[in-house]
Amino acid sequence: MDADDQADGRTWRVSVDAGRCVGSGVCAAAAPGHFRVVQGTSRPRAALIEPDEAAVGAADLCPVEAIAIRTASSGDLISPRA
Ligand code: SF4
Repeated sequence: MDADDQADGRTWRVSVDAGRCVGSGVCAAAAPGHFRVVQGTSRPRAALIEPDEAAVGAADLCPVEAIAIRTASSGDLISPRA
């Protein structure tokens, strides 16, 4: 990923609400390249990623909607999907 990717809006920002996460591990199982569970809480492997359906799918699977994926440039919510 380079500066141009962030400038043109193709970069996503991944976050996990640690207060909500119940450590189910669903996200890490669905998208191990994007999430890992450390001491009972999921953590994104990287805060900024290139668009990847696997990350969206994992966020959609989270039972407590602890994961948010937004566009890095505008903050528009990509997942969880309504
Ligand atoms: S699926 Fe949701 S609750 Fe489960 S570990 Fe991931 S972020 Fe936490």
